[in-house]
Amino acid sequence: MKKAGVQLDADCAIGLKELAAALGTKAFLTDPADCDRYASDQSGLVGTRPLAVLRPATTEEVAQALKICTRHRIALVPQGGRTGLSGGACSPAGAVVLSTERMTGVIELDPEGMTMTVWAGTPLETVQIAAREAGLDYPVDIGARGTATIGGTIATNAGGIRVLQHGMTRQNVLGLEAVLSDGTILSRLGKTVKDNSGLDLKHLLIGSEGTLGVVTRAVLQLRQNIPDSALALIAVPDHAAALSCLSVARRWFGSRISAFEGMWPDYWEFVCRQSHLAKAPISGQHGFYVLIEVETDHANREDALEAFVAELFENGIAEDGVLAKSLAETLSLWKIREAIGEVDTDFGPHINFDIAVAPSDLGKFCNAADALLAGLKDAAGTLKAGHVADGNVHLLVAHDGSAEAEERIEAAIYALLGNWNGAVTAEHGVGRLKARWITHSRSREELAVMCALKKQLDPLGILNPGALYGDLEK
Ligand SMILES: Cc1cc2nc3c(=O)[nH]c(=O)nc-3n(C[C@H](O)[C@H](O)[C@H](O)COP(=O)(O)OP(=O)(O)OC[C@H]3O[C@@H](n4cnc5c(N)ncnc54)[C@H](O)[C@@H]3O)c2cc1C
Repeated sequence: MKKAGVQLDADCAIGLKELAAALGTKAFLTDPADCDRYASDQSGLVGTRPLAVLRPATTEEVAQALKICTRHRIALVPQGGRTGLSGGACSPAGAVVLSTERMTGVIELDPEGMTMTVWAGTPLETVQIAAREAGLDYPVDIGARGTATIGGTIATNAGGIRVLQHGMTRQNVLGLEAVLSDGTILSRLGKTVKDNSGLDLKHLLIGSEGTLGVVTRAVLQLRQNIPDSALALIAVPDHAAALSCLSVARRWFGSRISAFEGMWPDYWEFVCRQSHLAKAPISGQHGFYVLIEVETDHANREDALEAFVAELFENGIAEDGVLAKSLAETLSLWKIREAIGEVDTDFGPHINFDIAVAPSDLGKFCNAADALLAGLKDAAGTLKAGHVADGNVHLLVAHDGSAEAEERIEAAIYALLGNWNGAVTAEHGVGRLKARWITHSRSREELAVMCALKKQLDPLGILNPGALYGDLEK
């Protein structure tokens, strides 16, 4: 997307004036110094300065804004915390941004019903803290928790480290309110766990990346907070051994496994070499590293993990391991895995693949990808870490920074993925970066239905054009 100046047609200029009048100065920014920071998200894609930034504070203001945008055919990009990694929140030329930053806060916490009703712009961490203060927990958790918003996590159906235990965002949303492109407010903020009265429309909005409507409020399903957990880092010979370790863990802990994360040696050695990123708590070289966290409410939690790890050694599954004995040790073990969000400067230009295959295929897929990349002169090294139990790997491939290298690497990896019946994005979303690769995951028939739904709900295509659907919209 270019930084070129945009020629406003007369109708668009009238639309902008109407937006300014309807929203007021606090909610309508046009100063370039203000607007520039809303151009891009954290994907690396450079967006264009929006024509204006809309900052509504209520659902009715969002509806008013969308009505005006539809009347004057002005493209609108919904934005939360701009932590997206697929370019879905980047502004294309000639669009306005609708930021939810003034729609924040907890509206209601129902401790008996274990629900929380919140505004879409509320940061994920604010929700987590409010839930914990009531002895409860909102289990969706991602590294960007401090800035990512509830609306953004809903629009991308965010995953993260606790999907194994509690599912994706989709499994943790009970009710939703959203505004469609023509200003229609679809509001179902009920707290019913069971509701078979027709199609569950919230599931259309969840994961639609701002292309079908703007999420304004949500009812979240909370869980009981289990404050105690135990964490172990285990070195195993390879990915197959990690899967064996997961089977043993399921026998020991069942649904109390709250995280089961994996790191390949390329990732482990890279982050542990950069002392500002992480420190290696175990020595030697191993074929795979597993972080396992187990929820527990009994006093002898470390004993339980110790006995489990002992079984792994007896069976020849584990080669080395360490148990976190304090909060500081817990944080430093997690730091190794979460450093994936901080490698950009040290690793240089790279593609950040977010791929899913069947969990039992993940190791074989990664070996095939490594072999493929070894034969490509454009690829200059990989880092691999991910969610082992979900079959989701974050594969970072370094290159010379050129668009040509990027194109060749993406074409090769997504073609390979097609043979494994995988997903071009497991949790970050399609956004603008992956829109042209979606055909490697979804059939022609599926895409036709998706396009028909888009046409029905947003006939003029004003909502987040270029994201998710890419050229399919045309
Ligand atoms: C360090 C780091 C770690 C991360 N870890 C994970 C992870 O483990 N798992 C994971 O899934 N993601 C992860 N992400 C990606 C990102 O945090 C998520 O995609 C998050 O859900 C985006 O939320 P946001 O509020 O920043 O949305 P934005 O980036 O602002 O927007 C993302 C998309 O949602 C749309 N959108 C935003 N708000 C609304 C709304 N109210 N209504 C309709 N559409 C809307 C936008 O148009 C865009 O398409 C990570 C990102 C970073 C930087």
